[in-house]
Amino acid sequence: MFDRHEHPQRRINSLNGDCALVSPQRAKRPWHRQTEAVVPTSRPKHDPNCYLCLGSTRVSGQRNPEYSGLFVFPNDFPTLLSEAVLEAEVNHALLQSQPESGECR
Ligand SMILES: [Zn+2]
Repeated sequence: MFDRHEHPQRRINSLNGDCALVSPQRAKRPWHRQTEAVVPTSRPKHDPNCYLCLGSTRVSGQRNPEYSGLFVFPNDFPTLLSEAVLEAEVNHALLQSQPESGECR
């Protein structure tokens, strides 16, 4: 029985009508990937120009506390915003979308 996750298939791109060959079974082939030697690095414990370091001022203007352990802060360039822009949903054959909101940390 055909399984699209296991067997080769031709898929049609509905945007331009082109066909693409998809061969999921090829992902099972052995692969002896390249390995790289680990380069030892020496990093400073604190970089005053790093916006993530303790005590630094981030681009948002907020100042990081002098944290000594795990510290979670809001993403200054979040993927989602706290409040969704409430516009009508787009419901077209080629584009369907809905507003989304969230918090990125
Ligand atoms: Zn840093």
